[in-house]
Amino acid sequence: MAGLYLHIPYCESKCVYCDFYSVVEREHRDEFVSLLTEEIKSRANEAPHDTVFRSVYVGGGTPSLFSPEEIRSVLDTLRECFVVDENAEVSMECNPGTVTASSLARYRASGVNRLSFGVQSFFEDDLAFLSRIHSPAQAKKSVEMARQAGFDNISLDLMFSLPGQTVSRWRENLRQARELDVAHLSCYSLTVEQGTPLASVVTRGEVRISGPEKDAELFETTMLVLEEWGFLHYEVSNFALPGFECRHNLAYWNHEPYLGFGPSAHSFVEGQRTWNVASVSRYVERIRASGTARAGGERLTREQLRTEHIYLGLRSNGIDLVDFRARFGSDLLEDNRERVSAFMEQGLLSVENNRLFVTPAGFLLCDEICAEIN
Ligand code: SF4
Repeated sequence: MAGLYLHIPYCESKCVYCDFYSVVEREHRDEFVSLLTEEIKSRANEAPHDTVFRSVYVGGGTPSLFSPEEIRSVLDTLRECFVVDENAEVSMECNPGTVTASSLARYRASGVNRLSFGVQSFFEDDLAFLSRIHSPAQAKKSVEMARQAGFDNISLDLMFSLPGQTVSRWRENLRQARELDVAHLSCYSLTVEQGTPLASVVTRGEVRISGPEKDAELFETTMLVLEEWGFLHYEVSNFALPGFECRHNLAYWNHEPYLGFGPSAHSFVEGQRTWNVASVSRYVERIRASGTARAGGERLTREQLRTEHIYLGLRSNGIDLVDFRARFGSDLLEDNRERVSAFMEQGLLSVENNRLFVTPAGFLLCDEICAEIN
């Protein structure tokens, strides 16, 4: 199940915790869409033979800063250059502070059929701390308007382990998300990334981040509450009502091929990973000069592919053991017999229908488990 990714690197302002590649300057903003379409056209032959793309993901940055007509023109170019399934999932990330009823209706008409809103919290003070540009009321209104515009596949990003966040306050965030009747939730723990303004205030001791115990307690609350509401926990941070798992993300986690366009976008085709320059100005220069903006690449060895496959599978919907043997020629359970048995005895790993997967209790220790299985 192959996917296409578009990186729109512009934001209205930079959130304190963010280390995604995005810029707030308007430099090259007006010509960006035509450069992006130029890149897509010049890489049209990169898709493996006979590939049908079943998902498109417009991420960033803040794609909703671009008009529906601009997004439509890029999506049309993708459809001209690649075989995109007519029922493909077409997701777009939205900042609630940037949409209107009219723009949402036009995004829907342009072919976007899934929206992911970066809500993060329904509390004003949390949003101020995170330097988000929207209010809780705007977030709720945006989701309501999206539904009226015809979107029935809506996801919200929420963030836990914010400084001083209590379990009851986090539960209240989950409750408000449920009230909006969305089909998908991505719940991330606040991470302090090097080089961000958040890292500076934490280093100076001006902000205290929750410790691992509080983080685990909030994550456990998330799992219990969302399971009770019928959400499937299909990746460490992702929860969906049945049938609403994000196809695009599943393709990443299943090691399927994907092509990425725009500054900093990554691609993965037939064991080779490549990436574009992470700079708008260099992207513009390179696209003008050659139609492509590749900064580097690596061919993964069989061993690296195996390690990634284990890691991605255990963090998401498990590893199909029959498929694993076909891909890598070895028996994963046999190779890790003692470690797997120990984790199974502790209730952290399980095997059902030839699938090895991490249990809800295991998700709390997912990184440690992944590091042990090889
Ligand atoms: S809106 Fe998203 S991409 Fe832009 S700065 Fe904030 S977190 Fe980063």
